[in-house]
Amino acid sequence: MNNRRKNGVFAAIRMAAASHHLLTAGTILCVAASVAASLLPPLLLARIINHLTAGLPLTFLAVLLYFGSLALEGVLSSAQESLLVLFGQKMPHALRSEMSKKLTLLPASTLVAQNPGEVAARFSGDVDTVEALFTSGIISMVADACRIISIMAVIAVKNTGLALILLLVLPLFAVFTRHVQKRMLAAQLDNRRAVAAVSGQVPETLHNIRTIRALGLETYMERRYDRCIGESYSAMERTNFYDAIYSPVVLVLNAVVVGIVMLLSASGNAVVLNLFGMSVGTSVAVINYISRIFAPIESLGMEIQTIQSAMAGVKRIDAFLAQPERVIAEEQKTAARGQVELSHVTFGYGEKPVMCDFSMTVGQGEQVTLVGRTGAGKSTVFKLLLGLYQPQAGTVTIGGVDASAIADRERRTCIGCVEQHFSRVPGTVLEQITLSDPQITDEMAHRAAELAGIDTAIQALPDGYDTVCTEGMFSQGEWQLLSIARAVAADPAVLLLDEITANLDAETEARVLEALRRASEGRTVLSVSHRIYENLGSRTVEIKT
Ligand code: ATP
Ligand code: MG
Repeated sequence: MNNRRKNGVFAAIRMAAASHHLLTAGTILCVAASVAASLLPPLLLARIINHLTAGLPLTFLAVLLYFGSLALEGVLSSAQESLLVLFGQKMPHALRSEMSKKLTLLPASTLVAQNPGEVAARFSGDVDTVEALFTSGIISMVADACRIISIMAVIAVKNTGLALILLLVLPLFAVFTRHVQKRMLAAQLDNRRAVAAVSGQVPETLHNIRTIRALGLETYMERRYDRCIGESYSAMERTNFYDAIYSPVVLVLNAVVVGIVMLLSASGNAVVLNLFGMSVGTSVAVINYISRIFAPIESLGMEIQTIQSAMAGVKRIDAFLAQPERVIAEEQKTAARGQVELSHVTFGYGEKPVMCDFSMTVGQGEQVTLVGRTGAGKSTVFKLLLGLYQPQAGTVTIGGVDASAIADRERRTCIGCVEQHFSRVPGTVLEQITLSDPQITDEMAHRAAELAGIDTAIQALPDGYDTVCTEGMFSQGEWQLLSIARAVAADPAVLLLDEITANLDAETEARVLEALRRASEGRTVLSVSHRIYENLGSRTVEIKT
């Protein structure tokens, strides 16, 4: 395994931002302009009121400027929102591409250990929260922070006393915000975990629905769902509680600060007036600014929740992207064809060993049946030959080439595998055979279907090879024939057959075995099944553990 790709969420986002540099620059400019524009209306209003209280006439230009500044603020704020949404939408695309790429690079051992629901939740919910990080999170938060700082600077010039009060209040408020932030992050994480567990249970339930119904396990399943949903609900309740107390605290603070400043500015004390005294126009501007400084702080609270939920998502996506990747083999000059050999192989899926110092050789064109008790490691030998796992000791080679060193593109031309159950992919019958592999032409697919004895059944379908596959389209035996066609489509030198006739009735089995006899000609065949052993007359290799 290697770790060549170290891309995390933020690396993917940086790359996406760089490839949309005009949009990125436009968004940043718009945010800066929107912050600057929000400072204008109170200043212009103060001038108008000061003019009026001084008994001067109100000019049309002053009114135009005031309303113009309000319009400009509104336009820039809407433009900021629109650009943030546009910018944010680029992120899920970049992230999902990165995650899909990662999925193809994970080794088999990691993939089988994954909970499908959890992985699905990372692709959907977690990525959505990262999108929200941009549409209503980080950038809005930076804009709000800039608004707060610039309003503080204007207030310091207009009313030093108020600036001092705010300097006292705001750090306390920041501590309160941080406290809420920490509690909410913990609740968000709990909720995500519980939701992921529920998502994991849905495919599991559907997959096992027959067993659940047959054994009457509905109540047990219901209890499992209830537990996870209950955990999620209680985590959401905690989040809602902090969310609910945050906004009222901001509103009360706003009212208290305005009240104090108004009282002090109306006092007759010269020293107090020195700090808090102001004209009528300035006091209107200052009240306006106070509400404008609390409004972004209030939205900071909302943004905290967005960012926290996104950070929980980022952590989970980062953990997914940080998983070690399988070694990607370089393409060989000559395809791996010839003798199949396991030499002194020791292997286990974890701590528990499956085989110890196991050796076997199958000559080119030879047909061998693996025998051994259930759990002995017969399917494991196939997994090693397919390069899905690497032995802890010893070597697994095909035509002298290490099985894990066969490049992905070449694997199908070296080795084909048929299992007990056919894995249907979404698409047409032709795509079941080719698996959309460009190196397999339509002619190759048709030839493989003929060899497997399924060509006539396919031709009889409404759209022949282009018929979209549905579950009841073929009988169990026909699916197995299609599976053989898929395995031999690239004309591999080695064919692996794992219990492929296990669930078939005698008549269907005979049909499959006949197809196998044709498909096996000239190939090295390793099979697990006594019927195949009898039919092909192959020698046996016993797997003992
Ligand atoms: P059967 O005849 O029942 O198909 P088998 O000989 O094919 O058995 P394997 O499937 O190779 O046996 O399994 C060998 C051992 O490895 C078993 O004990 C099994 O539980 C274990 N095993 C198989 N796959 C995994 C896996 N993905 N993770 C952990 N253990 C596994
Ligand atoms: Mg098996």
